[in-house]
Amino acid sequence: MAGPASYRVLLADDIVPQGIEILEAAENLEVDDRAGINASELAEIVGEYDALIVRSRTKVTKEILEAATRLKVVGRAGVGVDNIDVDVATRQGIAVLNAPGGNVISAAEHTIALMLALVRHISRADASLGRGEWERKRFQGIELYGKTLGLAGAGRIGSEVAKRARAFGMRIVAYDPYLSRERAEQVGIQLVTLPDLFEQADVISVHVPLTDETRGMIGSVELALMKPTAYLVNASRGGVVDEKALAEALRSGRLAGAALDVFEEEPVSPDNPLLGLDSVVAVPHLGAATREAQTSVSVEICGAVRDALVTRDFRSAVNVPELSSQQADLAPLLNIAHQLGRLLCGLTHGSYRDLEVRYGGAHEAALRAVAAAAAQGLLSDIVASPLTLVNALHVATDRGLSVSQVWLGGTAATGEVVELRLTTADDSLRVAGVLLAGNHPRITRIGDYRVDIQPRGTILVLRNRDVPGVVGKVGSVLGDAGVNIAEYHQARQEAGGEALAAIAVDGCVERPVIETLEALDDVIGVWQIELPEAVESVVATQGRLEEGG
Ligand code: NAD
Repeated sequence: MAGPASYRVLLADDIVPQGIEILEAAENLEVDDRAGINASELAEIVGEYDALIVRSRTKVTKEILEAATRLKVVGRAGVGVDNIDVDVATRQGIAVLNAPGGNVISAAEHTIALMLALVRHISRADASLGRGEWERKRFQGIELYGKTLGLAGAGRIGSEVAKRARAFGMRIVAYDPYLSRERAEQVGIQLVTLPDLFEQADVISVHVPLTDETRGMIGSVELALMKPTAYLVNASRGGVVDEKALAEALRSGRLAGAALDVFEEEPVSPDNPLLGLDSVVAVPHLGAATREAQTSVSVEICGAVRDALVTRDFRSAVNVPELSSQQADLAPLLNIAHQLGRLLCGLTHGSYRDLEVRYGGAHEAALRAVAAAAAQGLLSDIVASPLTLVNALHVATDRGLSVSQVWLGGTAATGEVVELRLTTADDSLRVAGVLLAGNHPRITRIGDYRVDIQPRGTILVLRNRDVPGVVGKVGSVLGDAGVNIAEYHQARQEAGGEALAAIAVDGCVERPVIETLEALDDVIGVWQIELPEAVESVVATQGRLEEGG
């Protein structure tokens, strides 16, 4: 016989029976289905529960979380956690879990549906017949068979689209600079450059996350490279495609048509220029709107909440690191590992193959967490779902990036040392940092150059020929643009060769200023990298989970 339930789970929104069964099958979980409960009732009773599961309807606000004195886990049946105050949850030691995998198939099928609707003019033909017309010539389309599909982003959804498109007899090329060649081969995708993608594809389908790098990634320059007979499909995120440039390209016949599931502004405004165009198929963000996706996110989140409560598996958490409360003092070490990962991400392009994480210092047991923090930093601007110290190594492996860990032994005299060596398909780069006196991080190496700079805020990395006057010119450009330099470290290997400068500045440097720097004589390249603090705020979480029996 099952012993007394030790965890109580509250369902505040509709969760499918298959999900509820998963929770009920666990010996020590008791489930209370109060789907549709209003905010004030929820605030009244939430204090009696260990876990709360919601969809998008219930807002898990600061007030609710403050009343949730026993809560350890909030589960969101879906990907976005915008309806949950994650910062407050984190501060209170409550893990927030999501279900990122549940809608991959639906989004992929939807992309194929849009592609077919587009090339066969389904929506216009349907509307025309609805008006009593019988227009067969006007709606002549093209076959997908034998055509080239160009994927921008080939992660979970992109690869599923590739599988389905192959069944149509399409050739698949993709631009995804972060995907390993081995992984691309496994899913039958040929990796190409961005210009090649646009030049070769008959249909471009976009599957990247919205990041600083992908915002506006498809604008007038890229659209101008496309064949005039080509089509564009976007079921990723609004903002990746520049809508004004797309409307212009369609109006001028630069492009045959576009199918859009997502928009810069949602709900989309009725006067959006794309809505009126004949060559556009537009639908209101329906990628995940299937019965199965709704079921599978329910099932996924119920499994994840069970695992978190029963076996302490926090793989689905968007805010919990794999730290015990005793290890909370590792936060500065994990921060530098994370920031070095971000630095590598900003400095490299090319499909990632291996990441070697080398750590020397007082805490040998922290090696895995250091590796997770580095992988999180490297991938966090690249993958669509939230990355944490718990899931970063799993996500890296799933993407074909192998992460190895090397213990360098105790190096107490010099502080703690973290070095990351990244190998991509074409290149390799190492970066290193130290943590001095337990809490003073410095970046100490970029490639073959020894530097010494604090990892904080915005860093410019500048490669130049080692000739007189470059430092002064760079300083003047930044000064004229009102950019304040906090630290400037110039490094070189030999006089008259190449040099590298690591420059910490206050605030963000606008693109035109970077271009002015790039145009200076003797400057070879300029990279801007943001290094936010990453893990400090989240280490409190594990405490409540450990307490809560
Ligand atoms: P994923 O993280 O599995 O894959 C994203 C891929 O994009 C990765 O392989 C990554 O390497 C690549 N990438 C990142 N930056 C890039 C860049 N600058 N250039 C080229 N490639 C880059 O994500 P996913 O689950 O496949 O989701 C893809 C997109 O679909 C996301 O934007 C997600 O929000 C969206 N989505 C939409 C719906 C919908 O209803 N329409 C549903 C689910 C997901």
